[in-house]
Amino acid sequence: MSEPRAPRDGAAVLETDLFVPAREARFLEVPAGRILQIVDVEGHQVGDFVAFRAGDRSEYLSPAHTCSCLTKLIPQVGDRLYSNHRTPLLEIERDDVGTHDFVVPCCDAERYSVDYGIHDHANCRDSLQRGAVEAGLDERIRGELAANIFMHNVVTSEGRIETRRPEQVAGAAIDMLVLEDLVVGLVACPQDLSPCNDFDPTSMALRVWRPE
Ligand SMILES: [Zn+2]
Repeated sequence: MSEPRAPRDGAAVLETDLFVPAREARFLEVPAGRILQIVDVEGHQVGDFVAFRAGDRSEYLSPAHTCSCLTKLIPQVGDRLYSNHRTPLLEIERDDVGTHDFVVPCCDAERYSVDYGIHDHANCRDSLQRGAVEAGLDERIRGELAANIFMHNVVTSEGRIETRRPEQVAGAAIDMLVLEDLVVGLVACPQDLSPCNDFDPTSMALRVWRPE
């Protein structure tokens, strides 16, 4: 496990350090005002992230609305992430990586059966669904609601989406100020057949910090 790097140059206290094993998902509640940190524990790993408003889970993080509100494909430091009602839910304070994908859905069973002919492959959607049930949530997880954190997708000059190896190393993190009370979930993507996770899915962590 990497040594936690505190947000805001150390002016924050670690409240929760939730390990997310490779291929699995974990959920937690985060109140407004905390800093949520998504950590790549071992390096070269993508995490698929979902968030719902705690008081009304019919409102949730929407990668598509975020791209629309920001008029950009990849949120950067200082940008906010928006809900399906265009409410800002999170604000990026620091980002060690800078590559994310807010366009494609998370991987699902059909991704592996249709594209690779493999049935019963671990996938982000099913892991998120299992994690949600374990956390007592009755949400139906939809792949298009997942933001692909640290995914190194680029748009080529021909307009194609190309998946490359994530370049970040162990301990890389993104820090986001939580703007509304949220329930969040993260899955450590199990894709081992493309450069998405450098062909070797590994673990991640969700950390909650209280600013001092
Ligand atoms: Zn995945």
